[in-house]
Amino acid sequence: MKASRLRLAAALGCALATLAAGAATPAGDNQQDAMLGFTAGAAAQERSLEQRFDAQLNPAELRDWLQQMSSGPNQVGSPHDKANAEFMLAKFKSWGWDAHIETFDVLYPTPTDEKLELVAPDVYTAKLHEPPVPGDRTSDQAGALPPYNVYGADGDVTAPLVYVNYGMPDDYKELARRGVDVKGKIVIVRYGGGWRGLKPELAYEHGAVGCLIYSDPRDDGYFEGDTYPQGGWRPADGVQRGSVAKMQLYPGDPTTPGYGSTPGAKHLALKDAKTILKIPVLPISYGDATPLLKALGGPLAPANWRGALPITYRIGAGPAKVHLLVKSEWTRKPVYDVIAKLKGSTAPDQWIVRGNHHDGWVFGAWDPLAGMVAEMAEAKALGALYKDGWRPKRTIVYASWDGEEPGLLGSTEWAETHARELQDKAVLYLNSDTNARGYLDAGGSHSLQHLVNQVAGGVNDPEKNVSVMERLRARIMVGGNEKNASPEIKEFAKVAEKGGDVPIQALGSGSDYSAFLEHLGIASLNLGFGGEDDDDGIYHSRYDSFDHYIRFGDPDFKYGVALAQVAGHIVLRTADAEVLPMRFGDFSDTLDRYMDELHKAVDATRKATETQHKLMAMHAYELDSDPTRPVAPPERDSDVPKIDLSPLDQSARALKQSAQAYEAAYEARAANGLQIPAGQLRKINDLMGRMEQSLTDKDGLPGREWFKHMIYAPGMLTGYGVKTVPGVREALEGRRWEEANQYAVITAKVLDGYRAQLDKLTAMLQ
Ligand SMILES: [Zn+2]
Repeated sequence: MKASRLRLAAALGCALATLAAGAATPAGDNQQDAMLGFTAGAAAQERSLEQRFDAQLNPAELRDWLQQMSSGPNQVGSPHDKANAEFMLAKFKSWGWDAHIETFDVLYPTPTDEKLELVAPDVYTAKLHEPPVPGDRTSDQAGALPPYNVYGADGDVTAPLVYVNYGMPDDYKELARRGVDVKGKIVIVRYGGGWRGLKPELAYEHGAVGCLIYSDPRDDGYFEGDTYPQGGWRPADGVQRGSVAKMQLYPGDPTTPGYGSTPGAKHLALKDAKTILKIPVLPISYGDATPLLKALGGPLAPANWRGALPITYRIGAGPAKVHLLVKSEWTRKPVYDVIAKLKGSTAPDQWIVRGNHHDGWVFGAWDPLAGMVAEMAEAKALGALYKDGWRPKRTIVYASWDGEEPGLLGSTEWAETHARELQDKAVLYLNSDTNARGYLDAGGSHSLQHLVNQVAGGVNDPEKNVSVMERLRARIMVGGNEKNASPEIKEFAKVAEKGGDVPIQALGSGSDYSAFLEHLGIASLNLGFGGEDDDDGIYHSRYDSFDHYIRFGDPDFKYGVALAQVAGHIVLRTADAEVLPMRFGDFSDTLDRYMDELHKAVDATRKATETQHKLMAMHAYELDSDPTRPVAPPERDSDVPKIDLSPLDQSARALKQSAQAYEAAYEARAANGLQIPAGQLRKINDLMGRMEQSLTDKDGLPGREWFKHMIYAPGMLTGYGVKTVPGVREALEGRRWEEANQYAVITAKVLDGYRAQLDKLTAMLQ
């Protein structure tokens, strides 16, 4: 998996080059902007250490490792996945790391039988198979699992088919207005518009007995560009595999929620594991979907439901009738996490944790190995510095996770098993999941935003010869000024235009940072380059291969080196800083932005509701409807009562003052050369390293206590996509007004606790 990157409008073209060249005030790593957490003298040493680190990075090695590790299918339980873990273990050891493999036995169902047939009005048997592609050397290899959606239920059903667009809540409302329901039917939905796992879940909640998910070429195929092997986009028989576990409740082994899947651990019975689905589901190609969709009758699909297949999109139900069979072997399989350590010299009990997963859906060259080989290059370079006599102040832990694709299994089980030690010691978790040519994509805790800007301001973009941060600034500014820019990009562009730090995104889920950030409250980052590539076209398919990557990903591995530089410098600085490189004013500023969004959301919801009620009173929906193709009025939205966000407003204001006091105290200390007695410095860093934990609440979010962070969470209805201030925002979006008011108070209390910790930190610095 991977977190979806910031989507900008396309068509950058030459405007980008002009802007990048003319970027007036580089805010990155220059002499005027003191290196956060370091004295001037230590900063100079750190810069020369970073140069020695960079000199160790060799793109040819990244290429070799990628080719080796993607040479066989490496899904959980496969021999090649285990061999890759052992290959990396040997490498880490040879580079001077103290390394071992930690194993967990996790529930991992694999398909034993799959069938999909159109049984009426015509007959068609789906291929459910990705054939070899000329020029792709691994595409004919045996040993892969057939395309499937892991943690869907077993089932054998025959029923009429209904097309439900992306299968999101609004789609079901539209369906109801057209008098179609899915009870007892099999739904066919297209990928996109929301997280994959929600599609069969919502289908089940609406009474469907089975679910097919296909990749429409409008979103993922020839509409986007030439298909593989001519271009990089999804061919007619390419299938997107993926997990459909309800990870928005909790990721990891479905049978061990909140604790490690260690030997002797208590396992829930399958029927009690809340993250396993209740109906069968199968991912299919647009090659297999076309005859099914073509056979549908019933009302015409609304304009924005239509894809790019050469058919008239209809909703059904029927006359198309399909037979769907899915059977899996529900057994436990081992996952192999590689864990490697370089011990710190003066603060060994503070840990910097860096991770990427190594399991793929098939060969996984893009996802995850392109990110994994950058991490390996960092590990080799750090090992070389260590052999040369350099010692990090803090302990560095490098991890290669297994079982990410089915449900963040390896990272979650490890984080749950070592929860107490991690909450005690870990000051940063730094993740990546994939990498390719393009722009830096950075997300995470906003106390780390300045660190990311400083580091990325000092790393060169291999294509444009400006810093990767200035290139990102240009991208955001151009994207934010386009006509169809999303409100988020517009907001980012406003900040970026000022010439100061470029904002980083908040993290939702879809990769291994979830347990660290959202369960344990450890400050986290997720990094990767991309955006110029064609990776969606082979995402989670057999064609995510070495041959595809070296044509369409990062042909000369220059961006692999750039990722190793950005991530490696962040690790080095966090490991070596005198005072941890965090800045809390950036978090407070970001919170102001979220508060502004929440107020606007309340106003907009109220206004939209009033408008709807007015139209209903006028019978406008009935008058508007074409009697030959009737569309009923929407369901009446509930009135919006008074929503009281004032507790949150007050906490945000108070935090702003405390953050300013902290920054002033830090600046005064920095101006004095950070002269702090060692004992005091240790206390300051201990407290700083746990600041993020005070943004958590032990009861977690409503209905999903595993998610304890009260500012960042994956949305219940977005899956990967983030919801910030989730207790309040999701209640508002779900029109649960009382809950919104309640979580405004709970979240305010959490923010007050965070502020109290910050005030303590300020007092220590004064
Ligand atoms: Zn991944």
